[in-house]
Parts: sequence; C-alpha cells; structure tokens
Amino acid sequence: MSGDRIPLAGVIGSPVAHSRSPALHGHWLRTYGIAGYYIPMDVAYADLRRALEVLPALGFVGVNVTIPHKETVLAMADLVSDRAALIGAANTLIFRADGKIHADNTDGYGFVENLRQNAPGWSAKAGPAAVLGAGGAARAVLASLVELGAPEVRVANRTRARAEALRADFGNRVVVWDWVQAGTMLEDAATVVNTTALGMTGKPELRVPLDALSPSAVVADLVYAPLRTRFLEAAAAIGCVTVDGLGMLLHQAVPGFERWFGRRPVVDEATRAAVLAA
Ligand code: NAP
Repeated sequence: MSGDRIPLAGVIGSPVAHSRSPALHGHWLRTYGIAGYYIPMDVAYADLRRALEVLPALGFVGVNVTIPHKETVLAMADLVSDRAALIGAANTLIFRADGKIHADNTDGYGFVENLRQNAPGWSAKAGPAAVLGAGGAARAVLASLVELGAPEVRVANRTRARAEALRADFGNRVVVWDWVQAGTMLEDAATVVNTTALGMTGKPELRVPLDALSPSAVVADLVYAPLRTRFLEAAAAIGCVTVDGLGMLLHQAVPGFERWFGRRPVVDEATRAAVLAA
C-alpha cells in the first residue's frame, strides 16, 4: 500500500447491518480528524477467503469480524494472538504491511476495561466469580477472569456440556454448576456476569433468583440492548455496582482502532452517546 492512501477498515459478518461498530469508529475518526473510513461489509461464508485476499490490496488496514466468521478466520490468519487462540475466535484482524494477517480477540480486554472504568476498585481477585452462560462471549470473559487471578470461576449454562468444555480449556479454577442452581452459585460471589443472550430485546428474560447475591458484588451484563436489563436493575436494587454491556462493546474496539489508524481512542460519554444515537 502506498503511503498516501486513505486507510480503510470495517466489519465483516453476515448479517452486518445491525452492527454498531461503524457508528463507533466513525465517531472516533471524526473526533480525531483522521482521514479514514470504517465500512460495514456483508460477506457470505463462501466469500470469506477471497475477501481477506482482496481487502488489503484495496487499502484496508484491517477489519473487525462478527458472526458467523469469528471462529473461521482463525484458520485463515498467518498469526494468531495467544488470547485469540485460547478463546478460539477472533474479532479483530490486522492486515500487516508484510502481507500477513494477524488475528486477535479483544472481547476480554473490553470486558475488563469496562469494569475498570465503571466499577472503580473492582478486582477479579476479590472473590469467586459467577458466570452465567458458556457461549463465545463467555470464553473471552473466563479467559480474562482466570488471567486476572479470580480464585474461582463458577459457570452455569443451560447446556451443561458447554460449561464442562470451558473447564477443560481454562483449568480447574473453573467450577461447573447446574443451570437450575445458578441462583445458589451467586452466594459470596464478588463478580457476577451475564454472558447469555437472555434479557436482550426479543429474547426471554434472565430469571435467576438473586436472594443469595451480596450487595458488595459487582454485576455486569454483556447484553446492551436494552442498556439497563432487568437483571442489572434487580442487582442495583440490592445495592450492587452494575455495569452494562455497551462499555464492553466500546472498549473492545480500542486496540483495533489504534492499530489501524495510529491513535488510541478514548471511551467517554460522547462515545457512548454517538453509538446510542446511531
Ligand atoms: P452464543 O455463543 O450464541 O451463546 C449464547 C449463550 O446464551 C449460551 O450460553 C446459551 O446457552 C445462552 N442462551 C441462549 N438462549 C438461552 C435460553 N433461552 N435459556 C438459557 N440460556 C440461553 O452467543 P455469544 O456470542 O456468547 O453472545 C452472548 C450474548 O453476549 C449476546 O447477547 C451478545 O449480544 C452479547 N455480547 C456482548 C458483547 C459486548 O461487547 N457487550 C460482546 C459479545 C457478546 P446454550 O449453550 O445452552 O445454548
């Protein structure tokens, strides 16, 4: 790519029209006066390899990857970060100047930075963590909690086998609970995270009894539509510090933007407002 080309980035997935990433990166590009573009691209599974071959030649410096390509792109990358390999999925690709594709996963980073920003004083080490769900997002959350020294990470998932698989991958600090026991699992938990899709607009509510939840727990929901889920409202009513899913979405985008456009963006109220208005 010649030096005077305008840097391009974007998000590839299918469907991709719902993605908030173009609004987010577009806001940062405008805020920092960077001459670049971030474009949503609906790429079918059959076209994925060809897209990754062609995009760098067109001036793309990288892309975000969303459903259904997050796992598939790992096999198409030349270099895979340790955290992407551990999670088994990538959400950020960097098209390097030497032609190599570098795959990374920044979801765990986004999860942690969101807690650091919105629950000051939070520490994974403070006590056991309780994670509801065992899908792709849960893998990123678990990787971070284990890395940051949570003494125990309890996981309950509707499909128990998926939670068992997490224990196999993340080690014996992970303790699997039955889904019907999810309420009991919250007892003395210092960090509680909903990584299921429950509570999202159009999905059933997350119905976990919160009687055992301590007011000193920090409670996070990965769902960001609605912003304030009933689960978060119920935890806040108990006295817990609560953290919504939008912050994770914003923070996970920071490393990609910095690598592509050469400036580390700040996640602030204006960032949230720009994405919420989109
Ligand atoms: P996924 O891999 O499809 O996993 C979905 C999870 O939800 C699984 O644990 C699944 O349980 C559970 N679930 C779905 N329907 C359920 C039901 N009716 N009853 C009980 N459990 C149910 O999806 P994902 O990528 O992990 O995403 C999960 C959620 O996190 C979504 O709402 C997504 O929008 C959100 N997310 C947010 C961010 C962010 O930046 N804030 C990032 C990633 C994901 P089973 O295994 O039993 O099916």
